[in-house]
Amino acid sequence: MKLINLENVSKEYIDGFIALNDVTCAIDQGEFVSLVGSSGAGKSTLLKMIYADEFPSDGTVYFGGRDISEIKRKVLPHFRRNFGTVFQDFKLLQQKTVFENVAYTLEVHGKSDAQIYDEVHNILKIVGMDDKSDKYPHQISGGEQQRVSLARAVIHRPRVLIADEPTGNLDPISALSIVKLLLKVNSFGTTVILATHDKSVVDKLSRRVILMDKGRIVRDDAHGKYIISG
Ligand code: ADP
Repeated sequence: MKLINLENVSKEYIDGFIALNDVTCAIDQGEFVSLVGSSGAGKSTLLKMIYADEFPSDGTVYFGGRDISEIKRKVLPHFRRNFGTVFQDFKLLQQKTVFENVAYTLEVHGKSDAQIYDEVHNILKIVGMDDKSDKYPHQISGGEQQRVSLARAVIHRPRVLIADEPTGNLDPISALSIVKLLLKVNSFGTTVILATHDKSVVDKLSRRVILMDKGRIVRDDAHGKYIISG
């Protein structure tokens, strides 16, 4: 059984727009999958189906064999702990330090202060940001903010890391450092699903590539490059 299964998933937004059209695919535990395609192709919507931020209008999404539309609203926050998320705009809390931004997730999870201290410094070391743990987001670069955001996303050891255009606001060197960190997270066993329209990022990875166009999957290559046609 695969970790994630989408079966004939369609998504029609309230305004009638069909963002996903009969999508079927499966993702295994431990895979690194890139979702590519032009803006508006449906990549973010597909990700949202997986981490239960939106629900299909038709079809079924299974996580660990369980139909996620049957998860009760009350336990959805608990279900979402299976995921860590990073986005193009970092989403750090501006009035909190680097340390506090990462610690916040663990506080929500009810850990002790000593555990939080150790675990936050440990993950900040991994992403190379421990020496800036007292800085505020506006005092560090975009690339550094994204590394903090990544630390925050994985500190609770999610099974799946969802990265939606994580390099979209970054220069090529910072983008490369984020890609390397995504690979490192994946090497620890975390499934990584990356949505991007950055060709250079995908071509460096040489991992599975799913190409989307107008809400459909049009290619699915085990060791793909970002090829639009053919
Ligand atoms: P991508 O991530 O590939 O850029 P999205 O999944 O964000 O694509 O969007 C796919 C299409 O769905 C776009 O045309 C977008 O405008 C539309 N869309 C996304 N979210 C909504 C929404 N909440 N309501 C209506 N349309 C939406």
